[in-house]
Amino acid sequence: MASTSSQAFVYNTFHEYYTSSSFSAPSITNFSQREFGFFMLKNRSMLRHVGFRNKEDLRIFLSKNVPSDVYRSGAYYEEPEAEMNRKGWLGADLVFDIDADHISTSCKKIHDKWICINCNFEGKGITPEECPICRSKKFSAKTWPCESCLTSAKEETIKLVDFLETDFGFSHKEMHTFFSGHRGYHVHVENMAVKTLDTIARKEIADYMTGLGVTLLGNKKKKVFRGLILSDYGWQKRLKLGLKRFLSNAKKEDLQKAGIKRNYSILLFNKELILNRCILEGRWNSIKGLSNRTWEKLFHHVKNLESSQIDTVVTTDIHRLIRVNNTLHGKTGFKKIEFPVSYIDVFDPFKEATAFNGGNVRILVSDAPLFRIGDEMYGPYKHQVVEISTAAAVLLICKERAKLVKGKNV
Ligand SMILES: [Zn+2]
Ligand SMILES: [Zn+2]
Repeated sequence: MASTSSQAFVYNTFHEYYTSSSFSAPSITNFSQREFGFFMLKNRSMLRHVGFRNKEDLRIFLSKNVPSDVYRSGAYYEEPEAEMNRKGWLGADLVFDIDADHISTSCKKIHDKWICINCNFEGKGITPEECPICRSKKFSAKTWPCESCLTSAKEETIKLVDFLETDFGFSHKEMHTFFSGHRGYHVHVENMAVKTLDTIARKEIADYMTGLGVTLLGNKKKKVFRGLILSDYGWQKRLKLGLKRFLSNAKKEDLQKAGIKRNYSILLFNKELILNRCILEGRWNSIKGLSNRTWEKLFHHVKNLESSQIDTVVTTDIHRLIRVNNTLHGKTGFKKIEFPVSYIDVFDPFKEATAFNGGNVRILVSDAPLFRIGDEMYGPYKHQVVEISTAAAVLLICKERAKLVKGKNV
């Protein structure tokens, strides 16, 4: 927990942001039908079931109350301020969340730690579902919004956008893409066709994105996929192109990662034949030594590469609150920010999501890796006092890696 003066510093900096011209309250479709929720800095509690007539009312609320996190419903309600079962659900946008927390990047072993609240057992990397020692499910985790984790999250988002565009036919106009302000990306689809989908229908869509249940082989004893020519639609097309892409570039290590421990050399030496005879002509059993089992492993691996690692819980929850864009993330001080779908390849979260300019702050850093904000590099730091920009200081304090030594030099 940050010290009182560090907390006051974060509060004041957030307050300055919400009262300045650099904050503009976002336009949200059917503003007055949305439920809003806030995590309040002052009493460290959640406030829900709030409604506003328009964005100006929200702006005034934020400048007066300065929450650490601001959320709104993906849903539309008759009465957003009523209790949950009296709100009158009218529909919801289709919302996707891609969070680096759920993607297994190798750098997590370096920058992420978790500790079991029950038995104090600790480990590095992704927080497990349950403690390997006492099976408790409560952890305290220390994570870091690192560049390569965010690049992985962006790659998953690019795949998601392609699913939405190619397989579902949504236009860029109907899709809204955001950086979450911490470790991931959000995509919202606003369209009449999705608005009234129930939880089960949303689960079907989420399963499609993650490739759950995608299978070609059926009964592997019978050579059921002999002669199967993959179509140019949906998952069959994705498997075909994915297989082509994977095998064209695959090295021994890649095939071993796919679970092919023995006959990888057959795959490496017959790439051309495999691409033409098997993938294009559907003669899957035409190369000696490539069994159904090998194909099954390859398809499974390629399916994982081609699917998008969304958090399916977010998509299926029709009452879910999601962070409001242009507002600050309480764990980083970065903004949640919308960017055009077509701009995703070049979008730089560490440049475009920064909210504070100028000022230098002296802080005592306990531990921080090398990181970048804008064009400037910081760290690594270990038990040292440093004087750094407001944005970097807020990030380190919010991530509980630093304490304030002295306020802003103005
Ligand atoms: Zn434990
Ligand atoms: Zn990382």
